[in-house]
Amino acid sequence: MSVQQEAGVDGEALEVWIDQDLCTGDGICAQYAPEVFELDIDGLAYVKGADDELLQDKGATTPVPLPLLTDVVDSAKECPGECIHVRRVSDKVELFGPDAE
Ligand code: SF4
Repeated sequence: MSVQQEAGVDGEALEVWIDQDLCTGDGICAQYAPEVFELDIDGLAYVKGADDELLQDKGATTPVPLPLLTDVVDSAKECPGECIHVRRVSDKVELFGPDAE
């Protein structure tokens, strides 16, 4: 079963955000999906915006590119801080991460 089938996302737009308060700074997310996640000099991971800039506002989200969905979901599953949240844009329901059903 693919990640898309698993979540029933079916082409729905998803976004991801990181709770830096819980980030351990191990960098697993940046290894899995460097296009989406990056560690800053403060040692914490942030999501990246369209121009590769780090989005440092609390709760900042960035779109999940469909080709990277598996990498982003794997990041959320492996994240030792349990602080990567992947949710549907339309209704903000979390599909992968610590608050997913
Ligand atoms: S995998 Fe989780 S805990 Fe590790 S750096 Fe990324 S957000 Fe932080």
